[in-house]
Amino acid sequence: MPPSLSKVTTFALRGCRHSLFSAAKCTNISRQFGTIIDKIDNIVKRGRASECEIPRQSDVVIIGGGLVGSAAAFWLKQKTGPGEISVTVLERDLQYTRASSTLSVGGIRQQFSSEENILMSLFSADFFENIKEHLCVYDSDQDPPDLQFNQNGYLILAADQKAAVSLEEANKTQISCGAKVKLMAPSLMKEKFPWLKTDDLFLGSFGLENEGWFDPWLLLDALRKRNRSLGVAYVQAEVVGFDTSPGSVDHVMVKNMYGEVKEIQFVHCVNAAGPWAGEVNKMLGGSFPLPVEPRKRYVYVFHCPNGPGVDCPLLVDPKGVYFRREGLGGNYICGGSPTEEEEPDIATLEVDYSFFNQKLWPILANRVPAFENIKVKNAWAGYYDYNYVDQNLIIGKHPEFPQMIFANGSSGHGVQHAIPIGLAVSELILENGYETIDLSSLSYERFCTEGGSKKEKNVY
Ligand SMILES: Cc1cc2nc3c(=O)[nH]c(=O)nc-3n(C[C@H](O)[C@H](O)[C@H](O)COP(=O)(O)OP(=O)(O)OC[C@H]3O[C@@H](n4cnc5c(N)ncnc54)[C@H](O)[C@@H]3O)c2cc1C
Repeated sequence: MPPSLSKVTTFALRGCRHSLFSAAKCTNISRQFGTIIDKIDNIVKRGRASECEIPRQSDVVIIGGGLVGSAAAFWLKQKTGPGEISVTVLERDLQYTRASSTLSVGGIRQQFSSEENILMSLFSADFFENIKEHLCVYDSDQDPPDLQFNQNGYLILAADQKAAVSLEEANKTQISCGAKVKLMAPSLMKEKFPWLKTDDLFLGSFGLENEGWFDPWLLLDALRKRNRSLGVAYVQAEVVGFDTSPGSVDHVMVKNMYGEVKEIQFVHCVNAAGPWAGEVNKMLGGSFPLPVEPRKRYVYVFHCPNGPGVDCPLLVDPKGVYFRREGLGGNYICGGSPTEEEEPDIATLEVDYSFFNQKLWPILANRVPAFENIKVKNAWAGYYDYNYVDQNLIIGKHPEFPQMIFANGSSGHGVQHAIPIGLAVSELILENGYETIDLSSLSYERFCTEGGSKKEKNVY
């Protein structure tokens, strides 16, 4: 018999339903709850499993300890308290050397085309602003978390009528969701950003608040510390298979650092394997492939002595190339997605500098004339968790194995949405439905319905 979720039915936040207002109420209650939990932190810490110890069973197993997996673990424990349910995060590389979360550029914006993505960004921004209350580990000698949330906004540019109409349509959706965004004519942009070339532009869309960038590593670090204090077990192990029967799965096979394969029994299992989520799904052997794969993206750091100043937003050129400031001292980071034909080989994370010289620099120098004179100082590559059908999150129960929950495929906007994605996963497990933001249109079932794909137009 699989173990049951102990005392889940007594879950204290049951009354909150379907709105950001409810989310705020939930947050307050969970904060009070959090204080009680913190008082018994030390007991929990002593009892937590070590990173090498593989438990025989766990109420919830989460595959992947990046931001999405860690956020799901956080909400599950934050809502239920220590001892109520056991949550184990399986992570094959606790240094996160190839994880998408730690290699991302940490951008957050409300300027999406779909309502769900806008609402998730607003939720994250509120969470980030109150990060100390959410993720502080009390009674410890650690400093309260600081994400270095820099709210300089995004400036997204359109260079033709069609792109301008698309910005206008998205703007209406964003405003109806409560985002503070403003459409700007080229003359207005020139006034506000004198360093910008605007004579070939039709329109711009600028985020007035809650947009910018933060440090994803600091968020992951804070989540992991808080999770451990709540009794979440992080185990270094690689998932290598599942034990399934028709329509059901309740064991996962994992390989520990000594190469031994062991089994863990679970009630729920969350696939939070980021770019490798498609591979993990394949191990189930079912007939529902998950359209998520790693796609390599480069980030270049360059110096420009007389570039845009400290009020520089994250700018997205009509040709898809983006840049933003990186700290002080005239440093910037930039990137851009290749075309399908240019997609680089994913075997290694080696950087191709010719992509910068040939594809990005001419576009940057056209948009900001000061960027004619720059020096590339550094670069790195990471993998997007790319959903190759509609570039949007896939969340919800697996159609064949309902014990498995997807939380994958954000395609380049997963760090900013990890907190609400994790919350949604916890609601599915504890309440069997969404209570804060309704993400049901992002379920796997959309791929089984004609015309059901949920394209996010604003992906860079
Ligand atoms: C260059 C770049 C820039 C980006 N910029 C942004 C941005 O500005 N804003 C934004 O919101 N998003 C951005 N993203 C996207 C974002 O990083 C991802 O959407 C997000 O980090 C996904 O989080 P995750 O936890 O699902 O995946 P990950 O962080 O990749 O975590 C998945 C984890 O699963 C583990 N794992 C995989 N398979 C197994 C297995 N079999 N067994 C055990 N463990 C396993 C991996 O080791 C990994 O640590 C960017 C990504 C890149 C690469």
